[in-house]
Amino acid sequence: MCEFCHEHGEGKKWYLQMKNYSEELLHADLTADQKAKVEAETRYQWTKRFWEGFVYPAITGAPNPSHYGFAEGPSVQTNKDEILAQRKTEHFGQVLPIEDVEKVIDMVDSITRMPCGCRYIHTGLADRRYCFGLGLDKWSILGKYPDAAASLEVLDKAEARKYFRHFDQEGLVHSIWTGVTPYVVGLCNCDRDCLAYDGYIIRRGLPQFFRAEYICQVDWDACTGCKNCMSQCQFGAMFYSSALGKINIDPHRCFGCGVCRAECPNDAIMLIPREAKPEVANEWLEETGG
Ligand code: SF4
Ligand code: SF4
Ligand code: SF4
Repeated sequence: MCEFCHEHGEGKKWYLQMKNYSEELLHADLTADQKAKVEAETRYQWTKRFWEGFVYPAITGAPNPSHYGFAEGPSVQTNKDEILAQRKTEHFGQVLPIEDVEKVIDMVDSITRMPCGCRYIHTGLADRRYCFGLGLDKWSILGKYPDAAASLEVLDKAEARKYFRHFDQEGLVHSIWTGVTPYVVGLCNCDRDCLAYDGYIIRRGLPQFFRAEYICQVDWDACTGCKNCMSQCQFGAMFYSSALGKINIDPHRCFGCGVCRAECPNDAIMLIPREAKPEVANEWLEETGG
């Protein structure tokens, strides 16, 4: 279990706890420390600012403000521990396999599909709809911009599952995000255009998300060495052994996203709880070196 599970999930998966999606938490007053870190009085206030700064431009193609709705704090902090603490308080993620995404979809009241702010910032392309806001009243949160709010789709659970299955097949990594932890604001489908992935994995910066509560391993009796799965892995965790004629997964690089399974014709890849593999049971935030 990652530290959020211990702090916000009572030892169970933090993102499967209803209290972390509650209206009460969204509107509760923040502590003095939280207020200082996120520069808002409530999670609702923070979420509104974030949607206006990060999501609205991705809907309309409007210019991005410099801070995308985040608090200004991290840019003036130089201490790595302080920056990480700031991120964990304000907006932090975790990789989720499709099974847990579906559990979250089953739990929440509403799912709003919307454009991806990261892809807009990275590519300049607006309206790339890979983000899913959870429990979000689009009229309340984007009330200043009724046309933009109207353009967002509110999905039923079956529609949401269909999109996520499709993105899973495409090899997009599912992730879940807080808006002033532990409140859960959304589910994402990410690739190399994700700002968090870029900063953390490509540039080897400070972590922006936890690895999944799982890890993958290959059943060598079932693996034929076809290599179909390799193109799915965004973390450089899969290796082909020419001696064995099989795929190997480096557990220290595997983030447990599980999307490699979608391309295996032989069901040779299994997702197991991270805690079942002692050498990586406590690896949550280490860099991949990939
Ligand atoms: S975390 Fe992923 S889906 Fe969400 S905004 Fe960033 S790239 Fe888009
Ligand atoms: S090997 Fe690990 S990181 Fe790579 S796709 Fe599979 S589960 Fe994800
Ligand atoms: S797709 Fe399946 S069978 Fe093919 S190499 Fe990967 S694990 Fe082995």
